[in-house]
Order: sequence, then structure tokens, then C-alpha cells
Amino acid sequence: MNLLEHEAKSILSDYGIAVPRRVALLTRDGVNDAPEEFPVVLKSQVPIGGRGKLGGIKVVHDATEFHQTIEPLIQREIRGFTPRHILVEQALEIEAEYYLSLTINRELGTIEMIAHRQGGVEIEEQVSDDLLRRPLDTVQLQSISQALADLYDLPDKVFLLEDLLSCLLRCFMQNDAALIEINPLALTHHGELIAADCKMTLDDAAAFRHPEWQFEEQVSDNNFVSLNPRGTIATIANGAGLAMATVDAVARRGLVPANFLDIGGGATVESIVASFRRIMEFSEVKYIVINIFGGIVQCDQVAQAIVEARSQLPDLPQLLIRLSGTNAEQARRLLAKHELPLYDSLEAALEEISS
Ligand code: GDP
Ligand code: MN
Repeated sequence: MNLLEHEAKSILSDYGIAVPRRVALLTRDGVNDAPEEFPVVLKSQVPIGGRGKLGGIKVVHDATEFHQTIEPLIQREIRGFTPRHILVEQALEIEAEYYLSLTINRELGTIEMIAHRQGGVEIEEQVSDDLLRRPLDTVQLQSISQALADLYDLPDKVFLLEDLLSCLLRCFMQNDAALIEINPLALTHHGELIAADCKMTLDDAAAFRHPEWQFEEQVSDNNFVSLNPRGTIATIANGAGLAMATVDAVARRGLVPANFLDIGGGATVESIVASFRRIMEFSEVKYIVINIFGGIVQCDQVAQAIVEARSQLPDLPQLLIRLSGTNAEQARRLLAKHELPLYDSLEAALEEISS
């Protein structure tokens, strides 16, 4: 489950991590209430990154500018998501932006810190060479903080960074997080380090021990598992076995699967739209591989649902569809009408990506 920025920042703040001061959290009805202080930053609360580039983040300096900006902002759809809220925060005077995240390294079985000296909107395009990666545990905290201070070139902030990492680690563990990404971690003119943005993913499977989890996004059933927030290939399949085989086939080709999803027997327009929306929260996904065996579910009905779902979501990544079983021929004809090829095998569909 991905939290919205304002939800993630409330949690960070509970753990003693500095976040910008919240001025308001506006809904559609509240957009006429200009704040009493300026400058503020207006931030569209949609569950995706890259809002800055897509016009979802605006700094405003007075009430006139606020009124001109807020209305179009709350109506602005960003990659298929319309915000329910605009977060209004005291604008920071940013001196430098860094990247800091905690995630789970499944190979090492540890929580891992990943950091880069340059944060902000471009981090997605920067490649891994300059990343500092360290398994994070309390025993190593001091040396890791030193390495982080070196990376950021902030020699006098070792203790501040150690405190930050210690709070983050506690926050990560106590909330059953799968990812906490602070981008940017902002150094202000006053020398403070503040989490200017935060993306937080919590592990749905831990929902049973968190009655306090009340977020905009619902805890999903366990049929959707986020595998890698930077994955490039999303998967949709029916049946846990086929869903696993699909993820494995993607990984075997050296591609990075973003998720596991077993849609079960019910491939309705609503369920396909919901799956696509979930997938669109992964900013790096370039292809969605759909691998369905039509036994009880009929391929033409699945095809129809895919076509209708796609028409509702114009910015969808490219679809690679493999349907086989009951009514596969009808499905092929239907998809062809909408310029969607149907692949005869999963391998053939994946071939499309490599070529
Ligand atoms: P994202 O694009 O969805 O990751 O949204 P962010 O919250 O990270 O904002 C994108 C960029 O907007 C940041 O990297 C900053 O450069 C800028 N920004 C965000 N908040 C502030 C602020 O309070 N003051 C200033 N000056 N810039 C900000
Ligand atoms: Mn950001």
C-alpha cells in the first residue's frame, strides 16, 4: 500500500523526523481559504512521484498567486490521478537536495539504506554508480552516518544524520514499511535537514497488526504484491501459479518485475481498471504483461474488460497480452480491432520487449 505524501509525512513527524510545517490540507471545498502566511508550496496529493515535472508542485508568494494557482491544481489530473487534497506547506529555502531511502534487500535479508548526493526531480534518471548502499542496523549506525556525511559533503552533520537514520530505522520497522524514500532531503539556508518529500510503502500483509492504518488507499487483498518500486515490467495473471511463473519469466530475461498480481477468476472492467491504477503508481513501468488462462473465465470477456479499462486510462504503459483457453479466438479478433496484438505464448510477448 502506497501512502500519500501528507500521510507519510505525518508518520515521519511522529518519529521525530523534521518535515516542513503544514499550513493546511485543502479539499475542493476549501480552496477559497488562502493561507495567512507566504511563501507556501502547494502540493497535489496523488500517489505518484515526478509531480514537480508534471505541474503538481507550485510555490506561491501571495494571496493573488494562491487563488490563481489552487483551482487549476486541484482539478489537474496527473497521470490518471486527480487529487482529493492539496497539501499546503511553508515553503523551504532550499540550499541543496539529497536522496535518501530505506528499503528491504531481499537477497541480504536486511533493511538497506540507499543514498545519492543529488536528490530532487532527476534522481530516477541517474544511474546506480554513485549510489551509496549500506545494510542498516543500529550497531553500524555511526560508521554509516559518517559515510553519508561524506557522500553529502556535510562534515559537520554526522550526528544529525545519525539521529535521522536512527529515527528512520525505527519508523521503518515499527510501521512494517517496504520503502521509505525521502527525495529530496533538503538542506535549508538555516542548515536544517528536512524531509521535503516522502514516499512510503507499507506491507499490506502486516495490516492485521495495525488497526491504526486509515489511509486513502485501502489495504489490498494479498493478491497484489509490490516487488520492486523501480520495476519496469508489471504483471497481471490469473491463478497464483501462473502469476508466479509470469514474474519468473520476466526476471529470467534480465528484466525487473514491478509486482505480482493474481486477479483470480474475476476479470471485470472494474478489477482490470483497479489493477491498472495500482500499476500506474510504479513510475518506471514501461510494459504491462497480461497472462491469462481462460478456464472458468472466458478470454473474450477478459479482452473486453482490458479494452474498456484502457479507454478509461489514456496514459497506460504498453500492454503485452497473452490469453489462451476458452474463447481465445474471439478475444484475438476483439483485441485486433483495438490494435492490440495477442501473443501466442508468454515468451513471444516478452520477445517484444527485448527486440
Ligand atoms: P515530486 O516531483 O513528486 O517528487 O515532488 P517533490 O515534493 O519532491 O517536489 C519536487 C521539487 O519541487 C523538489 O525537488 C524541490 O526542488 C521543489 N520543492 C518542493 N518543495 C519545495 C519548497 O518548499 N521550496 C522550494 N523552493 N522548492 C520546493
Ligand atoms: Mn520528490
